[in-house]
Amino acid sequence: MTVFLVGAGPGDPGLMTVRARDLIAAADVILYDRLIPPGALDGARADAELVYVGKIGGGPQMPQEEIDRLLIQYGTGPRTVVRLKGGDPFVFGRGGEEAQVLRAAGIPFEIVPAVTSGIAAPAYAGIPVTHRDYASGVAFVTGHEDGSMDWEALARFPGTLVFYMGVKALPRIADRLVAGGRSADEPVAVVERGTLPGQKTVVSTLSSVVEDAAGIRAPAITLVGPVAGLRSEIAWLEQRPLFGKTVAVTRARAQASALAARLRELGATTVEAPAIRTQPLDVTLPAPRDYDLLCVTSPAGAEYLFTHLRDARDLAGVTVAAIGPGTARELRARGVEPDVVPERAVAEGLIEALAELSFERVLIVRAREGRDVLPDALRERAEVDVVALYETVAEPLSDETREAAGKADYLLFTSGSSVRFFAEAGGSLTGPKLVSIGPATSDVLREHGAEPDLEADPHTPDGLIAALVADS
Ligand code: SAH
Repeated sequence: MTVFLVGAGPGDPGLMTVRARDLIAAADVILYDRLIPPGALDGARADAELVYVGKIGGGPQMPQEEIDRLLIQYGTGPRTVVRLKGGDPFVFGRGGEEAQVLRAAGIPFEIVPAVTSGIAAPAYAGIPVTHRDYASGVAFVTGHEDGSMDWEALARFPGTLVFYMGVKALPRIADRLVAGGRSADEPVAVVERGTLPGQKTVVSTLSSVVEDAAGIRAPAITLVGPVAGLRSEIAWLEQRPLFGKTVAVTRARAQASALAARLRELGATTVEAPAIRTQPLDVTLPAPRDYDLLCVTSPAGAEYLFTHLRDARDLAGVTVAAIGPGTARELRARGVEPDVVPERAVAEGLIEALAELSFERVLIVRAREGRDVLPDALRERAEVDVVALYETVAEPLSDETREAAGKADYLLFTSGSSVRFFAEAGGSLTGPKLVSIGPATSDVLREHGAEPDLEADPHTPDGLIAALVADS
C-alpha cells in the first residue's frame, strides 16, 4: 500500500497541517520519530500500530537501514503506512533518501510537506528569515557536516544562514564564518525548542555566541544574519500575558481541555491533571413541561439534561435558569436560551436572581454530590424536585501528571469536588499558587488545610483567567 512521508511540523501541535492530521487519523501503521509534536498521535485510530523509530532511550538513533527495512516490510503489506517526521520531511529529514528506497522497492508513496523548524523557530522568536532591507536570501545548512562544507562560499552567501543540528558545532560555525569573511559583529540567534513550551532564545554575535549560548541544548536552530537583530523589535511570544507560566488544570478532561487551550493562547504552558470525570446516572427525568422552573446548575448538567429529552418541545413553556455563563453556553449550544443567568455564578447568586419570579413547581438537575443551598432556599417558596443526572468520580493521576502539577506556577480548581478528588489522587496542595473559581471551592480548599492564593470574581472560567492574568 501507499507509504505517506509526512512532516509533523516543528513542535507546536497547532502547526501540523490538515493533511497530516487526516493521514494520521486514517493510518493503519505509523512509524514515528522522536521530534514530533506532543499529542501528534492522539488522533490515530485506537487499533493503529504505532512504531517508534527514533532515538532509543535518548541514546543512539535507530539505524537508517533498520528504518528502511521497516518501511519496505510495512509498505509491501496491505496496510496504509504513515512515516511521520519532525518538521518537513525533505529538509534534513532523510525523506529524500526514504523516498528513493521506496521507489527502488516499487512501493508507491506520497510526500506531505510541513512547516520546517528553520523557519518556524526563528518566527516564534520574532525573527523573519528574509527581509527587504536585511536579507534577500536564506540558506538552510546542516551543522552536522562531514568536512566537505565550503565554508568560504557559505560565508559569502548574501543572506541569512540557518543551521540545523548545530549546537555541538557552534564553535566551528562561528570560527569558520568569521575566517571566511563574515563580520565578528554579525548578529546570531540560537532558538532552542522553537514553537514548544519552554522555547528559549539567545541573541548574540559571531564573536560572542559560543559563550552566550553555552546553556543551549538540542534541538536548536542557529541563525546567522542581520535579521537576528530584528528580534528586539518583533519578539511577540514573550509578550503574551501568561508567557513563562505553567498552569495546571484539575477539571474533568472534556472541560479542562477547553480551559487549557484558552490558557495556552495566552502563552501559558498547561498541565492537564483531571482528577475527576463525570458519568451519567441511570435515572428517569420527570417531564420538564410539568414544572414552571428548571434550574441547571453545571455545564455537565446541561449536557446530560439533553440526553433525557426527546427534543426542544420537552422544554416548552418552562422558565430555564442557568447557574452561570458556562452552563448558559452549553444550553445555548443546544438551542435553548436561558431566561435567568445570575451575575454571580454560585447558588446564592441564582437564589437572588430568582427572588422576583414566582413559580410553584421547580425541577433542579445537577450532580449527585451537588450542594443543597439552592433546593433548600427554593423549598421555602415552591415544590422542588431534585434529580441527579450524573456523578463525578475519581480519575487516577499518573505519577508524571502529579509531579508536573506540583511544579506548576498555578493550580486551578473549578469545583469543590475537583479539590477533593485531586487530594485523594495524591495531588499536593503546596507549592503552586492555588486558584479557586469561587467561595464554595475556596471553602473546600480550606477544609483540606490550604488557603487559596487567588479567588476568581466573577466565579467563572473567564474570571479565573482574569485573576491569573492580573497576578502574573
Ligand atoms: N526535518 C526537520 C529537521 C530535522 S533535523 C525540520 O524540517 O525541521 C533535526 C534538527 O532540526 C535539530 O537538530 C534542530 O536543529 C532542528 N529542530 C527540530 N525541531 C526543532 C525545534 N522545535 N526547535 C529548534 N530546532 C529544531
